[in-house]
Amino acid sequence: MAANEWELVCGLEVHVHLKTRTKMFCRCALEYGAPENTHTCPVCLAHPGALPVPNERAIEMTILLGLALDCAIAEQAVFARKNYFYPDLPKGYQISQYEAPLCGPGTFLLPTAEGEREIGIVRAHLEEDAAKTVHAGGATGRSVGADYSLVDFNRGGTPLLEIVSAPDLRSAEEAVWFLRLLRQTIVDVGVSDADMEKGTLRADVNVSVRRAGEEGFRPRWEIKNMNSFRYIGHAVEAAFRQQVEAHEAGEDVEQSTYDYDPDTDRLTVHRSKEEADDYRYFPEPDLVPVVPPAELVERLRGDVPERPGDRIRRYEQELDFERAVELVLTGKERNAALLAAAGLPWPDAAAIAMNRGEFLPENAGALARIVQANLTRKALDEAFADAAKGRIDAETYLAQTALGDEETLGPIVDAVIAAHPEQVATYRGGKEGVLGFFVGQVMRETQGKADPKVVSRLLVERLRQE
Ligand SMILES: [Zn+2]
Repeated sequence: MAANEWELVCGLEVHVHLKTRTKMFCRCALEYGAPENTHTCPVCLAHPGALPVPNERAIEMTILLGLALDCAIAEQAVFARKNYFYPDLPKGYQISQYEAPLCGPGTFLLPTAEGEREIGIVRAHLEEDAAKTVHAGGATGRSVGADYSLVDFNRGGTPLLEIVSAPDLRSAEEAVWFLRLLRQTIVDVGVSDADMEKGTLRADVNVSVRRAGEEGFRPRWEIKNMNSFRYIGHAVEAAFRQQVEAHEAGEDVEQSTYDYDPDTDRLTVHRSKEEADDYRYFPEPDLVPVVPPAELVERLRGDVPERPGDRIRRYEQELDFERAVELVLTGKERNAALLAAAGLPWPDAAAIAMNRGEFLPENAGALARIVQANLTRKALDEAFADAAKGRIDAETYLAQTALGDEETLGPIVDAVIAAHPEQVATYRGGKEGVLGFFVGQVMRETQGKADPKVVSRLLVERLRQE
């Protein structure tokens, strides 16, 4: 980067709902889409005298994810009260972790086509989610201008994992790539389905800018509760543009919370600095500190699956970087690996996994034979459809070989060419797109049994002869 050029400084705070059976501090079941206020109890409704009991599974899941992010695991983590008032927070405080989080610091290796980027993980801590407020009436769906607001306490008390990255991200593209791979890591370790549409993954984005080579940080803008990769990318770019404009115009850039408006592609201030939050954190007196036993941490360390970044590097030995990324992010890698293990070359295995649906693992061997044989399209479609339902026998499909021998196809190709002198002239006149017409004719003559690749070759050979 040239001296004096503006540089983006971006960090993310990612919130993930943990996939536990019950809430963080009570035994209410977690069920997405359940009728409103059907999963509540004195604890999550904050009745006087009700006491929280931590969800052990949520603590284990947090440690597991922390280990997957190469985080240090605290010898003693402390739950803390974060005090603020909001109608969706009946206690008047949220139980979170402040000075002593369960996990952190750590490092996230972000593979790129050019090499490896190291993104710092400041911390990963456990807290409870607030309930859900629905604002009814009014144009914006926000509290301002609404006719009334309703609260659904089903979500209140859901175990929430917050992962805070260091401000190490240097472009909107990199921020989105980091979030995608982080999401994949979360899904892989099985602690959450991390689905932005369902709201089980949300991200706050912090953005500032500085001159290349400048030490320290300028005031940052926080963009809260983003739930789309695309909008996150746009919001980061908009924040960069607007801050650079402001700095260059000599205006003050204040630290505040901003909202991104996709319609105008601009950020507008949400909450000003004067109202800056003061949460008055203090250790939660109703809970003892969490002291993770060393054996537990070691056992969980053994449960961490190969990281998505490492898998991308491994697949990259066989495929190009883009393809390797695609396999990992679309969840098609298991099928590709099964087909490759059954003898298909990796690029073919990857292509088939990307283009075909799911199949039972025990069918990988039969499918590898089938796709290498010269089958009709119909037979291939049938084989994959059947392979999703039950065990298949390759022989059933291998009989339906596509017609590929030149001795049989040659005369048919000749006849088709002889029957269409006009199209031949068109082809020879330079419009080679007409080849598709000839292939179609031959396929029709052979009731779809001809191998289109062989047909194309034979046609081109003959059509090019004057
Ligand atoms: Zn409850």
